[in-house]
Amino acid sequence: MSAFAYNAEGDMMAEGVALEAIARQVGTPFYCYSTAALRAGWQEFADGMRGMNASVCYALKANSNLAVIKLFGDLGAGADIVSVGEMRRALAAGIPGRRIVYSGVGKKPSELMAALEAGIGQINVESSAELEMLNAVAGQLGVKAHITIRVNPDIDAGTHEKITTGRKDDKFGIDIDLAREAFALAGRLPNLKVVGVAMHIGSQLTTLDPYRDAIARVRELIVQLRADGHRIDRFDIGGGLGIVYADEKPPAIGDFLQVVRKETDGLGCELTFEPGRRLVGEAGVLVGEVILVKPGVSKTFVIVDAAMNDLIRPTLYDAWHDILPVRRPRPDAATIRCDIVGPICESGDYLAQNRDLPPLSAGDLVMVRSAGAYGAVMASSYNTRPLAPEVMVDGTRFAVVRPRPTIDEMLSSERFPPWMEKA
Ligand SMILES: *Cc1c(COP(=O)(O)O)cnc(C)c1O
Repeated sequence: MSAFAYNAEGDMMAEGVALEAIARQVGTPFYCYSTAALRAGWQEFADGMRGMNASVCYALKANSNLAVIKLFGDLGAGADIVSVGEMRRALAAGIPGRRIVYSGVGKKPSELMAALEAGIGQINVESSAELEMLNAVAGQLGVKAHITIRVNPDIDAGTHEKITTGRKDDKFGIDIDLAREAFALAGRLPNLKVVGVAMHIGSQLTTLDPYRDAIARVRELIVQLRADGHRIDRFDIGGGLGIVYADEKPPAIGDFLQVVRKETDGLGCELTFEPGRRLVGEAGVLVGEVILVKPGVSKTFVIVDAAMNDLIRPTLYDAWHDILPVRRPRPDAATIRCDIVGPICESGDYLAQNRDLPPLSAGDLVMVRSAGAYGAVMASSYNTRPLAPEVMVDGTRFAVVRPRPTIDEMLSSERFPPWMEKA
């Protein structure tokens, strides 16, 4: 059962709270996250990992609201971060440094230094240049950096062009054919301690075969590396499990873990999982209000106050998000063909195109489903639109976990150069 469903009176509820009630209090647009849904995803991982030597480092970039991070941290999650900003978020939410994994293809020396100073448990290195850089930084600090090397297993994850990361031509990881050289280099660098191998083959995967193939390739590599004299104690599998946007049938978390368990059997590695989207995507929605409806010759434009700056996925990834009226339409209501668009001056500013929806009019609320991942985190204030607030629901209570900034707050960080100031 989804945490977002109509009640008997026809009001769309987030658990026990009507979205309309939240809209009245915080205004639109806003993001809303369900605690029950967030917990349910976590629990599936926890159940599936029972008896495995494995842990979950939640990939913050999918949704890095502090309340969301703390919820997972309190349940026992570590964090997968890709910037020092995310590191600060993880630490601020109470996740200890030793449970943080630092990924990313272009970490700066200053960032590596900050990570080592904070006692980050594992740095996933993605190039020989980064090995040298990290070795130098660790030497300056007089510490040994614990690293894995992220390899690129050359597997097509079969997902959208912009979120597949494990093919030879993608910028991520070290080509699996060059990995032994990289490990040899790491072994010679005095301030690095190699603890394992990492991979992450893409995002929104809806089949398990790419995982199976990639793990098999990395497994072979691990055997070679051990023969070369390296200690490989950890295998970081990455994230990438898909969710339902339209009619996808992503594998159950338990089935995914079962495949990993089988493919890594006897390897003797501690496993790390870095799920992002799967833990938060379906647990969040974006709610907007219809500003006006503009009938056209071939279709109708429903102009809402949520826009591409709030949710860029439709225009960036051709993503399809389900859109529902917050007030349940009458079952016999006729539908009209429409585009749900925002007010921004870009033709790419749409949330949905060519949908058959019951007639909507000014003041109606609409809910965009599966917006909990790569939604609020990718928002911008383009057109000087304040970032949409984020709300967390837990049972019958809700709280604003990031307020909408005022326009004054938005303007206050900017200044005129001195030569423009009045005398
Ligand atoms: C983005 C990313 C993840 C999370 O990906 P999801 O598809 O959201 O699960 C995990 N690990 C790394 C290294 C990433 O870059």
